[in-house]
Amino acid sequence: MQLIYEKSVPGRRGVRLPASDVPAAPELPAALRRKEPAALPEASELDVVRHFTGLSRRNFSVDTNFYPLGSCTMKYNAKVLEEAARLFAPYHPMVPLLPHGSSFSQGCLGLAYELGAALAEITGMDEVTTQPLAGAHGEMTGIMLIAAYHEAKGNKKKYVVVPDSSHGTNPASATMVGYEIITVPTAPYGDMDLDRFREVMTDEVAAVMMTCPNTLGLFNPHIQEICDIAHDHDALMYYDGANLNAILGKVRPGDVGFDVIHLNLHKTFGTPHGGGGPGSGPVGVKKQLVPFLPSPRIVKYDDGCYGVDAPAHGSIGRTSGFFGNFGVMAKAFAYITMVGREGLIQVSEQAVLNANYVMHRLKDVYDLPYDQTCMHECVFSAARQVKSGVHAIDIAKFLIDRGYHPPTVYFPLIVKEAIMIEPTETESKETLDAFIAVMREAAELAESDPAAFAEMPRTMPVTRLDETKAAREQNVCYFGC
Ligand SMILES: *Cc1c(COP(=O)(O)O)cnc(C)c1O
Repeated sequence: MQLIYEKSVPGRRGVRLPASDVPAAPELPAALRRKEPAALPEASELDVVRHFTGLSRRNFSVDTNFYPLGSCTMKYNAKVLEEAARLFAPYHPMVPLLPHGSSFSQGCLGLAYELGAALAEITGMDEVTTQPLAGAHGEMTGIMLIAAYHEAKGNKKKYVVVPDSSHGTNPASATMVGYEIITVPTAPYGDMDLDRFREVMTDEVAAVMMTCPNTLGLFNPHIQEICDIAHDHDALMYYDGANLNAILGKVRPGDVGFDVIHLNLHKTFGTPHGGGGPGSGPVGVKKQLVPFLPSPRIVKYDDGCYGVDAPAHGSIGRTSGFFGNFGVMAKAFAYITMVGREGLIQVSEQAVLNANYVMHRLKDVYDLPYDQTCMHECVFSAARQVKSGVHAIDIAKFLIDRGYHPPTVYFPLIVKEAIMIEPTETESKETLDAFIAVMREAAELAESDPAAFAEMPRTMPVTRLDETKAAREQNVCYFGC
């Protein structure tokens, strides 16, 4: 494919701007002006359309192919949700909050408030803030709330406990708030080692951060007991709810004993995840943490109007400039109201069924280190294939050639040669069957001709990369630099 710079012809243009009808601005001081014209391509509209359409076809997306990336919920998001977000595009975040009820911002405030209320209902929490802009941002907000709670009570706390299967952002967020991390290993049954957990729990522990189901896709049957043990030490329970697909409408973390939760709206609720954003990581809390929530908060008055309360005293302050990433929030609200209560229950049932189907159809050809009913994702190991020299990364490359985005590989870290598959609820049995057939083909090829993997992928614009070099010596310039 020829890139737009290569198609550039001096003097060719795609737009004709109307003559200016406003007074000319004073000239920029000479020191601030560029010495040479910018090296921009000169191209027609058609050249530009072909350029961007060509690039988009090199991009892999859920809209083109199956994308079973574990721990990431790459499910299909209905296009109507984009329409919903667009409805709010005309509203600037600085739209004035006019006196009670008469404001242009009623609709926006109402959406943020009602979304928070719906998420509180889904998670069993008392109140939700929509301010955080990503999952990790939500985690940090949640841990700051926990720190504020302990400080207000005069508790001397030093540690945050995380299982070794946790997402890397969990220990990172707790560290950024100033806590030291205690890591608890995973027991052979696939959940946090309960005995080790009991040993590390002291009155110096501020919080326990859990993902449930964990990154092995397993639901911890001792979760209630873990909450009780933590609470005995006045430690708060933090639920990493980045991926809620497995428990929607089935389990409410607030009912189990969790005190804080963050959600990734850009995984579970209507916005695709990846590519660096935009995201939204609302945080839900139980009553005892409400006084510390980011402030000001959006409130609903008795007459049904929405407003913003006065800045609260004990609040941790704002965690973002406004009330969150509004377009993502609008999509989440549209998704929740469209799908409804019964629909959300179906989402989790189908997501879990799909993952178990894939697990059962592949476990005779790939090692399954934790062989139990899984939730929304299942984790295999390529250990058997490694014996003939084929690694998880090779299987990933094979899948690329066959039109699939590879599953997550080498995560979670506690599984050697991990292959983590999350099919999501939006894929049909036919798609899963076709994927399973290709995964089985990879396992057969690993036995019959392991050397064949070395040159894969063969069908992509770039072939096998030196991944270490690509990560360490990044060069993303188009012109050789
Ligand atoms: C994706 C994810 C996060 C982090 O979310 P970001 O929006 O990428 O910051 C945290 N925990 C888990 C389990 C995740 O899957």
